[in-house]
Amino acid sequence: MRDVALLSLLLVAIAIGYGLGYRQFGRRRHLTQSPTPSSQTLSKEYFVGLNYLLNEQPDEAINTFINVLAVNSDTVDTHIALGKLFRARGEADKAVSIHQNLLARPALSQRTNEQIHLELARDFMALGVHDRAQRLLNTVLEHSGDDEHRYAAKQLLVDLLEREKAWQQALEVIQPLFKQHPKLRRPAAHWLCELAIEAIHEASRPIAKKHLKKALQLDEKCVRATLLLAEMEVDNGHYGRAIERLDHIPRQEIAHIPTMLPALKHAYLRNDDEAGYAAHLYRLLEQAPYTSIIIALGQLVQQRDGVDKAIELIGEHLRAAPSLGGLDYLIDLYIESQRLNGKPSPDTRLLLLKHHTDALMLNRTRHRCRHCGFASDALQWQCPSCRYWGTIKPVIGVEGE
Ligand SMILES: [Zn+2]
Repeated sequence: MRDVALLSLLLVAIAIGYGLGYRQFGRRRHLTQSPTPSSQTLSKEYFVGLNYLLNEQPDEAINTFINVLAVNSDTVDTHIALGKLFRARGEADKAVSIHQNLLARPALSQRTNEQIHLELARDFMALGVHDRAQRLLNTVLEHSGDDEHRYAAKQLLVDLLEREKAWQQALEVIQPLFKQHPKLRRPAAHWLCELAIEAIHEASRPIAKKHLKKALQLDEKCVRATLLLAEMEVDNGHYGRAIERLDHIPRQEIAHIPTMLPALKHAYLRNDDEAGYAAHLYRLLEQAPYTSIIIALGQLVQQRDGVDKAIELIGEHLRAAPSLGGLDYLIDLYIESQRLNGKPSPDTRLLLLKHHTDALMLNRTRHRCRHCGFASDALQWQCPSCRYWGTIKPVIGVEGE
């Protein structure tokens, strides 16, 4: 990150150098005289800035560059680049000063003016001053005829509304964009899920159901909407309908089978249908040999036929699909088996193995964002790192499922 910031600064420095060189060359060409004392000073300051940069003193370098760089149409892009750099360094207040300074110049073209409005909105968002950012974005949306700027303003506005959890307003902004930008359907489906959860808390179940059905119309792969609908059916005692809904999830996203297992267990066991639950788990296992399914089956067999049958089943499945979680469960079963067989304390070798699997399990990653790699213990529908929706999924493999 530090290298990237320094590289960006170096690029800005080159742009400034180019701008200054261009101006000096222009003066010489028009006046046919040697460089003025002021342009000589500018060049000197420029090299002072460059020296700071090469000595890895970026703050001093930036301040020097700002001082030498007058605002005009040739240098606006460089000022904007410096503002972006400050924001990326977490100094959005300095970026605000640069962008406000630019806006104070009356001779800017409308396009440049809108570009600076957008940058300033980004600065205020970074500072958490959402009302000012929103006003700037609304100004661009009201006055701009530039499609690119309008789309950027809408994207920023939606980002802002999302941060404020203003789901309905965000949906209203994004709806007209679906045709041209179908990838926006996925976040919108999640906002509908958020609205559904709010409706459930307010005891407005029919409204919640309406939001969830709309979410699935927008994004048929929205596992979260299906899961919420199934949980609502379980709460209403409609277990068959809940199971039907859950049956869609492996087709929507196979990696989310572990996510749906608790709801599946509720639906079958509240309906006193243990055999149905076992059959369903076997069916899922044929689709994906995930550890959560194997453990759920093991628990069922342990309860029904005893611990030794469970050991047999888990051992067999672990040979085909080895996993840390499965091994840990198998060790638990062996310890339980020894206890039931009247051993006063478990075999020390088993306890040592258990100690190791416990330590490994503690450090493992249960869920990971498929977009940015963010690791999370619990499932989160929006990645806190890249802010994408629906990209965090259970980890598959020896350490995970
Ligand atoms: Zn992410």
